[in-house]
Amino acid sequence: MDIRSMESEELIQLMREMNEPSYRAKQIFAWLHERMATDYDQMSDIPGTLRDKLRAAYPLTVLTVDRMQESAKDGTRKYLFRLPDGNYVETVFMRYKHGNSVCISSQVGCRMGCRFCASTLEGLTRDLEPSEMVEQIYAVSRDTGERVSNIVVMGIGEPLDNYDNLIKFYRLITSDKGLDISGRNITVSTCGIVPGIYRLADEHLQLTLALSLHAPTDELRRTIMPIANEYTIEELIKACKYYADTTGRRISLEYSLIGGVNDSMKDADGLSRIAHRIGAHINLIPVNNVKEREFKRGNRESIAAFKNKLEKNANNVTIRREIGQDIDASCGQLRHKRITSV
Ligand code: SF4
Repeated sequence: MDIRSMESEELIQLMREMNEPSYRAKQIFAWLHERMATDYDQMSDIPGTLRDKLRAAYPLTVLTVDRMQESAKDGTRKYLFRLPDGNYVETVFMRYKHGNSVCISSQVGCRMGCRFCASTLEGLTRDLEPSEMVEQIYAVSRDTGERVSNIVVMGIGEPLDNYDNLIKFYRLITSDKGLDISGRNITVSTCGIVPGIYRLADEHLQLTLALSLHAPTDELRRTIMPIANEYTIEELIKACKYYADTTGRRISLEYSLIGGVNDSMKDADGLSRIAHRIGAHINLIPVNNVKEREFKRGNRESIAAFKNKLEKNANNVTIRREIGQDIDASCGQLRHKRITSV
């Protein structure tokens, strides 16, 4: 196993196996997750002989910046990171009044096939390791020199399709021996894998669950998201209610507004009813145009009318801040360009 994916207990076990005192585990964990080391040579309080043994057996997972685009408008940075095996993932750094937020990827590609999304154009290559998920945050922190306080797992991939690594990632990033990020400041977005939602609820974590709904009826949802052929909206509502009741955390409904597809007043009423049944907050996302996809963003007036309708229906609603419009901020576009240009 990759050493940056190891939790404290696993590192203690490793030190035992190497006939080293257990306090070394604590030191190494702090180097890997608090000081975000990129090389064993930085670990100045670890003896050289141990560093050499670790270097030979456990090469450190470090992401390298292949490309970085910074928005001239709001300072949003989009990174294309190269993984140690030559694959690529995208990570986005955003500054908000309440602190810095990083949106990370959970897989290389995605097999969910949502029709408005560039991340799925080449299918799923592989899952990301927990180390590769935390390293996206560490690499951004090193590059910006700024502290990250919020994380959204909403980049390339379906997090609940990489369940065990997601949970391990959560434990590493919230560890008080590492960056100590509050679970309440972590949002995990799913396209709606019902058994995964129940499983996550039973972990009793503090994270916020965001459900990518994108359509108020099964019929329409099936035309946008293949996962809707597996699970109905009724099943999703039941699972979300269970999540909210079990964890005490409010669900967020993500709704990509696609011009002429899901932005009618009837759609708004349908979305309202679902949100009221779950007690969910609604986050509207005016969809970004993806060249390879036929979906287009609606105009400003239709987006405002949709939001007004929801507010009239007494829903709690926000429009996702339009960040990075002058860069390829839509998820998966940078990676898609990179791998199709090789
Ligand atoms: S929206 Fe998310 S789940 Fe759907 S294809 Fe894109 S990355 Fe996968």
